Amino acid sequence: EQLANQIAAGEVVERPSSVVKELVENAVDAGSSTIDIVIEEGGLSLIRVTDNGSGIDGDDIETAFYRHATSKIASSKDLFRIASLGFRGEALPSIAAVAKVTCISAPDNGGLGRRLVIEGGTIAANEETNAPQGTDVSVRELFYNTPARLKYMKTIQTEIGHIADYVNRLALAHPGIAFTLKHNGSTLLRTLGSGDRLQTFAAIYGSATAKAMLPVEGEHPDYELRGCISKPEQTRSNRNGITIVVNGRYIKSFVLNQAMMQAYHTLLPINRFPLAVLELGMHPSLLDVNVHPSKMEVRFSKEAELREFVEDAIRRALGKQRHIPGP
Ligand code: ADP
Ligand code: MG
Repeated sequence: EQLANQIAAGEVVERPSSVVKELVENAVDAGSSTIDIVIEEGGLSLIRVTDNGSGIDGDDIETAFYRHATSKIASSKDLFRIASLGFRGEALPSIAAVAKVTCISAPDNGGLGRRLVIEGGTIAANEETNAPQGTDVSVRELFYNTPARLKYMKTIQTEIGHIADYVNRLALAHPGIAFTLKHNGSTLLRTLGSGDRLQTFAAIYGSATAKAMLPVEGEHPDYELRGCISKPEQTRSNRNGITIVVNGRYIKSFVLNQAMMQAYHTLLPINRFPLAVLELGMHPSLLDVNVHPSKMEVRFSKEAELREFVEDAIRRALGKQRHIPGP
């Protein structure tokens, strides 16, 4: 079992940002309105995620760290219709297999919760404690018992770069959640959680950039699209400014990147890419997220149709701006 956890850990926990991803997604799934993330030394000494979500029942807290103990699949049929971010029940046990984890969690029951300590997969403590509603997971000394993995880590700057990039995108995906991200005591991100996507965008890219974005909107029997894109003159030399969110999940999609580039077509010089946030909603049966454990890639069942829909919506957004009379 411990070995199985360490093997699974290799899939789920590649680097500190993978831990952040899994913990933050759990916090989102728990319906939190604030999520605070504290990182020390690029995540290798500490990753702490505190949320004010549903919390974990005292009776369930140990179980949450067993493999395949997910509360998010009611029946196997549901695997094809996954709306929440997590669904494999592999994250917590995988993390606990390769780090020292403390999880304090309390459901809505008047300030009483439990504190669970797991080191290298072994439970060291499970005791009652006072705690506000929500969950607070601290992951210390990541990879302390897997030195081979530790050797692969890049510089602290690289690791925090991956973490910040992920948190920024999740914040863009969830403008209704107030996020903070701190690294070695300095604040890298603070969003208000007002629900206003442009405000979140401004917190990440600056308010001047946010003001110059064009709104994107699209309706279709199968899909819904909202978001914003930059004007052709405000572009970047790489694709990193493109954030695609499907049903609340930040994903990477070659197909949707292509749809976007096709819409910009003659408007962009070679090797220039727009800044964009595209939020797509669709029935969960129209996508397969179960492609890779990191769940970053998805497959769309009506790919060509979706591609055309997105391209059209972006064309319309770009077309409108060309008709705005100059000053
Ligand atoms: P999954 O997210 O795939 O269900 P995880 O290993 O990430 O699996 O989490 C296991 C279970 O622990 C979840 O299904 C959920 O019930 C519980 N859990 C984990 N994190 C939180 C959290 N922040 N708030 C509430 N419940 C949580
Ligand atoms: Mg999860």
